[in-house]
Amino acid sequence: MQITASRQNRLECHECGRLHQVASGAEAGRYHCGNCNHHLYSEQPAWLSRALAFTFTGLVLFVVSNVFPFMALELGSFSQQTTLLSGVQLLLDNNQFGLALLVLGTIFLFPLMELVFLAYVLLPPALEIRVSGYRSVLSWLGLVSKWNMMEVFLLAVLVSAVKLREMADIVPGIALYSYFSLVFILVLAKGQLNRRELWSFYQSDDCFRTNADEKLVGCSQCQALIGEALVQKNLPCPRCLQKVQHRVPHSLQKTAALLLAAVVFYIPANTLPIMITTSLGQTQADTILSGVLYLLHGDTWPLAVIVFVASMLVPVSKILILFYLWWTVVRQSIKSPMQRMKLYRLTEFVGHWSMVDVYVVILMVALVQFGVLANVEAGDAAFAFGGVVVLTMLAAASFDPRLIWDALDQSEAGGKDKIGNAEGDGKRDGQGNLGHSG
Ligand SMILES: [Zn+2]
Ligand SMILES: [Zn+2]
Repeated sequence: MQITASRQNRLECHECGRLHQVASGAEAGRYHCGNCNHHLYSEQPAWLSRALAFTFTGLVLFVVSNVFPFMALELGSFSQQTTLLSGVQLLLDNNQFGLALLVLGTIFLFPLMELVFLAYVLLPPALEIRVSGYRSVLSWLGLVSKWNMMEVFLLAVLVSAVKLREMADIVPGIALYSYFSLVFILVLAKGQLNRRELWSFYQSDDCFRTNADEKLVGCSQCQALIGEALVQKNLPCPRCLQKVQHRVPHSLQKTAALLLAAVVFYIPANTLPIMITTSLGQTQADTILSGVLYLLHGDTWPLAVIVFVASMLVPVSKILILFYLWWTVVRQSIKSPMQRMKLYRLTEFVGHWSMVDVYVVILMVALVQFGVLANVEAGDAAFAFGGVVVLTMLAAASFDPRLIWDALDQSEAGGKDKIGNAEGDGKRDGQGNLGHSG
């Protein structure tokens, strides 16, 4: 099979499957799919030097955040000082390995990997040099970015500080300020990133096919376009070596299985205690709900609202929305695809914010260690709840939103066939409109 590689400057929208022509050297701004409004790419002048500057600032802040004290809690003459990872250490001491790993990964390992990977993919194009492993690191960057939850941890710091302020004095450390800055710097660095150009730096060809009339499928990793003959032969993308699939394989089965698992985890997450407090010989075990009810008293009710939304409303809505989307695709519904896309994006956006209560527990564990005076331990619900968050995030990732549009295309193609239009699936291959905002 003869494969031709060429520069096409076209890309597929990963949320509806339409193809778009990309004008190189186009006007600066954000470009989105004219069909489903999905953000496709951004064109910004001098993005590379800005992204590099933010990334290296981020690396310095990351070191500061982990070397200096994060927070201290002062109770009379006692003082409990913590670093960013004190809570993880205490979880390991208590043999709560699953929870320790989840927290370590989302607030330390993935953010660190993201920063290092960013530096690794940005430096070579800036210095115009070639390095080994560039393709792999660029492929992993998207994955680690998804599991970095620093901003949620920051919200948890705020919630914990308000929770503890009546009990003791809270002294913020240098690491807290630098962690705060790091979250914003990383958002800025990622905002500058132009993945399309990074992949072009690795290999400029972005279209691979066996003949000129072939239907094209977009690679979900590097956005290259691959001819259908190659996809049917199960060959990997010639540019990034990831297997190219027309649609996420077994998307509906995977989504349903992960959602059911999330529902199962949701039961212990709400019935078991999430936090166990021992104070002067008295032990109190709190579930998520009793924690919310406790915060409702006095002036801490805004916290009750935050914890209720993040821990109860968001996970339940997310599970219900994904079940609803799954059901509409199973039934091949053609009604209101844009509304369903908005619901899908909402679940993607809010997904990881539910972790806030788990982080609050970890912070309390790290800060409240005053022996017989007061002591906090994480309950089993913390791990179960972390499981719900991870499972619903995986369920959203395995749901292929292009399935929403497939039913619509099939119905339109069916309609056209009836009146004798031979174009059938022409819309899929045709060029979509590109939206632009400054
Ligand atoms: Zn689209
Ligand atoms: Zn690829």
